Amino acid sequence: MNKQKIFQLITQETKRQQNSLVMIASENYASSNVLKAMGTPLSNKYSEGYPGKRYYTGNQFIDEIETAAQALALKMFGLNDKNWHANVQPHSGSSANLAAYLGLLKPGDKILALDLGAGGHLTHGSPVNFSGQLFNFVHYSVNPRTGKFNYQEIARITKREKPKMIVCGATAYTQKINFKKFGAIAASVNALMLADIAHIAGLIIAKVHPSPFPYADVVTSTTHKTLRGPRSAFIICKKTLAKQIDRAIFPGLQGGPQNHITAAKAVCFQEALSAKFARDQKQTVKNAQTLAQTLIDQGLKLVAESTENHLVLIDCQNLNLSGKQGAELLAEAAIYTNANMIPFDPATPLNPSGIRIGTPALTTRGLKDKEMKQIGQWIAQILHNPADQKLRQQIKQKVFHLTKKFPLY
Ligand SMILES: *Cc1c(COP(=O)(O)O)cnc(C)c1O
Repeated sequence: MNKQKIFQLITQETKRQQNSLVMIASENYASSNVLKAMGTPLSNKYSEGYPGKRYYTGNQFIDEIETAAQALALKMFGLNDKNWHANVQPHSGSSANLAAYLGLLKPGDKILALDLGAGGHLTHGSPVNFSGQLFNFVHYSVNPRTGKFNYQEIARITKREKPKMIVCGATAYTQKINFKKFGAIAASVNALMLADIAHIAGLIIAKVHPSPFPYADVVTSTTHKTLRGPRSAFIICKKTLAKQIDRAIFPGLQGGPQNHITAAKAVCFQEALSAKFARDQKQTVKNAQTLAQTLIDQGLKLVAESTENHLVLIDCQNLNLSGKQGAELLAEAAIYTNANMIPFDPATPLNPSGIRIGTPALTTRGLKDKEMKQIGQWIAQILHNPADQKLRQQIKQKVFHLTKKFPLY
C-alpha cells in the first residue's frame, strides 16, 4: 500500500467520525489544537529521563513543555506540588496502571479490584492481562439487585483478604464512585488506594463527579476519554511515592517519552481548566441522563436503571438479541457503541449481554437533550426491530442529516 492510499484512508476515517454518532463511552474528539501539537517535530526528539535529568542533550525546550504539563496536571485537580507529584510520561492507561503496580508493590502481592464483568478494566486483574499474570488479584462486584457498589460488602471482603492495594475505577460503571469510602476501607487494612479515573477524569475536573483526592495514594488516568486529549495517560501520586512511580515508568517500563504527546497533553490540560470544558462535562452527564430516561421510556432495561455519569449500560437479556448483535445493528445505522459485559453476565465476554453507550463525544460536538431524546428513540426502535433492515437504512440517513448540523473541525 502506498503513502497516498494511507492518506486516503485517514480521510475516510475522518469522514466516518464526522458522519456518524460516536457513542463509544471511552471515545471523544480532541480539539484542533491538541491534534496540531501531536503532528509536530517534537516527535523527533529523544528525552529519556525527566526534566533537568535527561540522558541526551538538546532538551531545553522539551523540559519546559514537560514541566508545564506536570504543573497543569496538578492544577486541574486543585493540587499543590508540595504534597503531590505528576508523571506525564505513561504512553497509555494500561502502562500507567502497570507502573503503579510495579512501582508500589512486588509481583505476587494481593490487589483487590472491581470484577471485570461488573465494569473493571482488563488491567484490574484479568487472567489474559499482565496484571492478572503478575499479581494476585481478588475482586469485589456490585450488588446483583441494584447494580451498584455495596460499600459494606467491599469493606468485609477487604478485611477478609487484606490486600496490599485496592483499585477503584471502572470502564462500565454508571454510578458515582465514593472515593472517600474507598479510602477509609483501604486505610482499615493499611492498603494503598489506587483510583483509576480513566473514564471519569473530565467529570472530576469539572466537579460533576467527586474527586479521588486526597483519599487516593495514587491516581492513574488516560487523557483521551472524557478528558478529550491525545491518546495517552498520566499518574498523580503522593509526593512520598514520587520516586517509586517515576522509576517504574523510566527506566522501569518505558524508554523515551513521546514529546509531541506530552505537548498535546499540556494543551488538553489547559483546555480542561476552561469554563467551556466544565460546561461541556456537565452537559455530558445531563445528556447521558436524558438518553437513559428515553431508553427506559421506550421499554429498554438499564443496568442500575439510571446513570450518574457519562454512560448507560443496556441489559439486552429481555430482548431477542445479544449485546454484540445489538451493537452491530446500531452500527449499520452509523450509531457506534460497543457490546459489553453486564454484572453477573451469563453470556461470554466475546458475545456479552450488554451494550455500553456514552455521551462524551456527541457532547463535545454540541448535541444536547433534544438530540439525545431523538437518538434514544432511534436506538430503541433498532433494538426492538432487529429484522427491519430498511429501518436501519432510514435511520442512517437521519443520522447523516443530524451530524451535518454539528461540524467537527
Ligand atoms: C481505558 C482504561 C484503561 C486503559 O487505557 P489504555 O490507554 O487503553 O491502555 C485503564 N483503566 C480504565 C478504567 C480504563 O477505562
